[in-house]
Amino acid sequence: MKFAPTELTEPERALQAEVREFLAAELPPGSYPRALGMGAGNDPEFSKKLAARGWVGMALPKEYGGHDRTAVDRFIVVEELLSHGAPIGYHWVADRQTGSIINRFGTEEQRERFLPPICRGELGFSIGMSEPDSGSDLASVSTRATRTDGGWLLNGTKVWTSGAHENDWFVVLCRTAPLEDGHKHQGLSQLLVDLTSPGLEINGIPFLDGSPGFNEVVMSDVFVPDELVLGELGMGWAQNTSELAYERGGPDRWLSTFGIVEEFLRLSEGTPLGDRAAEMLGWATSRWWALRNLSLSVARLIDEGQAPSVESSLVKEMGTRFEQDVLQKVIELVDLEPSPESASLFERLVAAAVQTGPSFTIRGGTIEILRSVASKGLGRG
Ligand SMILES: Cc1cc2nc3c(=O)[nH]c(=O)nc-3n(C[C@H](O)[C@H](O)[C@H](O)COP(=O)(O)OP(=O)(O)OC[C@H]3O[C@@H](n4cnc5c(N)ncnc54)[C@H](O)[C@@H]3O)c2cc1C
Repeated sequence: MKFAPTELTEPERALQAEVREFLAAELPPGSYPRALGMGAGNDPEFSKKLAARGWVGMALPKEYGGHDRTAVDRFIVVEELLSHGAPIGYHWVADRQTGSIINRFGTEEQRERFLPPICRGELGFSIGMSEPDSGSDLASVSTRATRTDGGWLLNGTKVWTSGAHENDWFVVLCRTAPLEDGHKHQGLSQLLVDLTSPGLEINGIPFLDGSPGFNEVVMSDVFVPDELVLGELGMGWAQNTSELAYERGGPDRWLSTFGIVEEFLRLSEGTPLGDRAAEMLGWATSRWWALRNLSLSVARLIDEGQAPSVESSLVKEMGTRFEQDVLQKVIELVDLEPSPESASLFERLVAAAVQTGPSFTIRGGTIEILRSVASKGLGRG
């Protein structure tokens, strides 16, 4: 395990300043529905504007419309977007992980077809991993693809598919060969599936606060041509595991409740903070500082060509627990009944966090699973 201290270089600070300037001009306070971290809304127009600045698909190769930038450069852009509560939903998954796995495992034809529109912010992807009976234990997925002329027929149900109602495609983890005793990691594959395919039905599952986001995706004989098998048939488990590594360890795992503290401070301007509030702010700032440094050092490791899955898992484990603790500390400080309909942005953000906060430590792998990944990676599993 390696968490080496690191600082931003001058060019990296210049990028940070550029993104801040862009956000101040594009999304001044009050001009957009500010949300909590990556739970922010979809705005395809905003995604396109960001892409036009070269800030979507940054780490993808130039020949496919990307920018050959580093993981740290992407970290800088993403940190600014998330702390601003910017509407990044439409390009989020494609930018964070799908583009990278298509680049790594896809055919030349798939790279040419999917990467340029991803880099232009014009193609939204969802993740089709979880099923009603498979969450943490993904190798037990029962969605099945069976051979047919020129491709595969896909049958099964995915659940908790974030954004499927607004995105264009999703990557489906499924079984392409029968389950053999004791070999459940074999015979799995990843398919690129158009969310408008005949036979595919998307049923919304509202969050606790009633907002849309989650979906159940039911697939009945959905035809997927051979050219949309991602990577090698039967290698879905290994590919999926490497995809999960892109999902963990970034600023999205410790910034979800940042906007609440920022708004709390803004509302406190001009009045003495008081000891309890000062203590909470000191506590939160020191932890943000530490988590940010851990997370930044993960991005540096990626740029060194390493696969820091233990480090990423630990950042997500600590970061998502912290996101929930911050909310709890703020609630203890203020006397309010948070309402999603409140005229106050602070109260709306608190209300949203109360209702969605429990999911921070579940999405992208639960606390227990992350601890298990870390301990196995350290040879203690
Ligand atoms: C906001 C949000 C967005 C999501 N978006 C998506 C998405 O877009 N696409 C997608 O595919 N999925 C998505 N998910 C699903 C998410 O990945 C799963 O909820 C998660 O992996 C846990 O699976 P589960 O809900 O089936 O719980 P289970 O796996 O049933 O776990 C239940 C409990 O048992 C514990 N547990 C399970 N196995 C072990 C073990 N081996 N050792 C110790 N403890 C264990 C877990 O930690 C947990 O506490 C999303 C979830 C949330 C909350």
